[in-house]
Amino acid sequence: PCWSSSNGSILNEKTLAMIKPDGLFGNYTDRIKNVILESGFIIFKEKVVQLDEDSAANFYAEHSTRSFFSSLVKYMMSGPVLVMVLEKENAVTDWRTLIGPTDARKAKISHPHSIRALCGLDSEKNCVHGSDSTQSAEREISFFFKEVSAGGVVTEHDEL
Ligand code: GDP
Ligand code: MG
Repeated sequence: PCWSSSNGSILNEKTLAMIKPDGLFGNYTDRIKNVILESGFIIFKEKVVQLDEDSAANFYAEHSTRSFFSSLVKYMMSGPVLVMVLEKENAVTDWRTLIGPTDARKAKISHPHSIRALCGLDSEKNCVHGSDSTQSAEREISFFFKEVSAGGVVTEHDEL
């Protein structure tokens, strides 16, 4: 169920957060999780996965016609990622605010306290992902956490 507060916001909204390969390689996981918990999110589910080419391309299907798509897919396959379902009031918007703008170089200037400013490098290697709407969140959460894994799109790791 989704309980509503008196102002109509969803009290237990969920979003998909991901620490991308550069975030894991750079040992930013603990710092990012601290920010998550200090900001009042509950980590509802989490797992480490290694994306293959098909799953990375599928996850970012909306960008398939962009010039950076093949580079993006390669980056996303370059190591394991940590996917998390975060839960909190206004989770989608609040997580997007915490991670900051897409281009980490710009984030360092305009949003110096954002997560991408902390651990991102540029417009591609920006260390974290966040769903951009409740519709995206629904799609992305079921992408990683559906109990039915018909084709085995991801390989799960027990630990890092
Ligand atoms: P996000 O929602 O802030 O993650 O940004 P987008 O949905 O626009 O893009 C998805 C991901 O593609 C980004 O997080 C980056 O990793 C990558 N990306 C976005 N724009 C660019 C770009 O101009 N060049 C490259 N190489 N990668 C990009
Ligand atoms: Mg996006």
